[in-house]
Amino acid sequence: MSPRVLVSDDLSPEAVQVLQGAGLEVDVKVGLKPAELEAIIGGYDALAVRSATKVNAALLERAERLKVIGRAGVGVDNVDLEAATRRGVVVMNTPGGSSVTVAELALAMMLALSRHVAAATASVKAGKWEKKRFQGHELAGKTLGVVGIGNIGSVLVDRAIALRMRVIAYDPFLSPDAAAKLGAALVDLETVWREADVVSLHVPLTDQTRHLVDAAALAKMRKGALLVNCARGGIVDERALAEALASGHLGGAALDVYEKEPPPPEHPLFRLEDVVLTPHIGASTEEAQSAVAVAIAEQLVAYLRHGVVKNAVNVPPLPKEVMDQLAPYLPLAEKLGSLAAQLAPAHPTEVAVEVAGELSSVPLKPVAARALAGLLRHFLETPVNDVSAPAIARERGLAVRETRSAEPHDYASLVTVTVRGAGGEARVAGTVYGKRDARIVRVNAFRVEAVPDGHVILCENDDAPGVVGNLGTALGGVGVNIARISLSRLEDRSRAFAFLNVDTAPTPETLEALRRLPHVRSVRAIAL
Ligand code: NAD
Repeated sequence: MSPRVLVSDDLSPEAVQVLQGAGLEVDVKVGLKPAELEAIIGGYDALAVRSATKVNAALLERAERLKVIGRAGVGVDNVDLEAATRRGVVVMNTPGGSSVTVAELALAMMLALSRHVAAATASVKAGKWEKKRFQGHELAGKTLGVVGIGNIGSVLVDRAIALRMRVIAYDPFLSPDAAAKLGAALVDLETVWREADVVSLHVPLTDQTRHLVDAAALAKMRKGALLVNCARGGIVDERALAEALASGHLGGAALDVYEKEPPPPEHPLFRLEDVVLTPHIGASTEEAQSAVAVAIAEQLVAYLRHGVVKNAVNVPPLPKEVMDQLAPYLPLAEKLGSLAAQLAPAHPTEVAVEVAGELSSVPLKPVAARALAGLLRHFLETPVNDVSAPAIARERGLAVRETRSAEPHDYASLVTVTVRGAGGEARVAGTVYGKRDARIVRVNAFRVEAVPDGHVILCENDDAPGVVGNLGTALGGVGVNIARISLSRLEDRSRAFAFLNVDTAPTPETLEALRRLPHVRSVRAIAL
């Protein structure tokens, strides 16, 4: 009997044809009520959805035959991943399916700004004929600065090169090789601000990218430069942007995304002329909607017909005995990956995961994959998990080495994550005490014993008296409570180190104040 597929949200006819063409039995039933869906789900091997169908635990209870759920699109908020994983149901999505579409909007924004298309349209409609006023600029020969060259940024790089633009890009997490293949020169952020005639943003919204484009960054941009944000609201400080436009420093700006969506009617950008605004339509094209539907149909066919898993977002369960042994180490591996990502040199090219001691007798792959997921999740918008992490690392030119050694150690088991790049390396290691007390035991050259959780301040200093007291006083003075502290120093006492767990995130000003304390060499804030 052919596997049976239920399509419960609107997929394109092409997608349904892909399923039928592979000899699957397909029922398209869009808009079913939860009870109706529960009544029939037991008869299907696969379920194809967009975002409307809620695949919750109650529905999965009834899904006795279900092997796979395909989501046409990226976000899987409408699927209870845990319940699906518990029942051994693979959940797949289609990351990157709308990259061309979003990149094309960014391109449209660049062209519209450089030729004043929106303002000129308004002027003609108002009965005017202002040829002189709307003299523009060519993009050919100009410098495009792309911030973030992941799925979307890399398509934009390709298109901009075709327009004969010079492309520079800032993406500290991409290897120079991967960037060179795209044809973009990797530079630092300051160079982007200084040299780009057009800046286009394609980064996720994270602690590092929130207000990445603030008043200071805008001031560094070239006079007359254009700014495009089709990524996420919040990356640009909109108030500062409005000021930079009003003062004439910036030549124009185009936004598809806003700090608040929809933006309030009194938004300062609405009063300005060289501004192009769209209502978060970056991924909205017929082609993108169809492309993700066809992609998910192909993935379902590959899985049901050949057992090939692509873009799975949940993890197939491991045998229980293995899982019991590994369970405490997976959260540790994730924290180590995250810590390593935050300490990594720019443009890392290699990640090494080493497992030593007792743990070396169980499969290493899940530990390495979890560490890699913790690392990549730190800077990717694309959802990353244990299943997808190794492939994403490969795509991004990051070599992954997994090694194990049974050699006796100071710890029963030790997981070490090392990230290397041309600029050096970051090495962190951790262990688990008892069944679940994870500890970081090494940060670069320093041995510590620290709890990998929450807000952390890492401080390197001269091994001199008074440093810890000063740190405590300075943090206390701004109301930052120290929960734990682990001190360390090199054997030759040339350098000392403190790993401080604090109850609240320190502000940039607090970090600056710590850096100015006597004997302090470096201070950085980490979130785990
Ligand atoms: P991606 O995860 O493939 O790429 C993100 C890139 O940003 C990665 O290469 C990463 O290394 C880089 N990066 C992360 N932090 C950085 C930092 N601090 N500085 C510089 N680079 C950094 O994501 P994507 O699929 O290309 O999506 C890019 C953005 O577009 C996301 O913000 C996403 O939410 C947004 N998006 C918008 C729409 C829309 O409708 N407007 C649609 C889809 C995606």
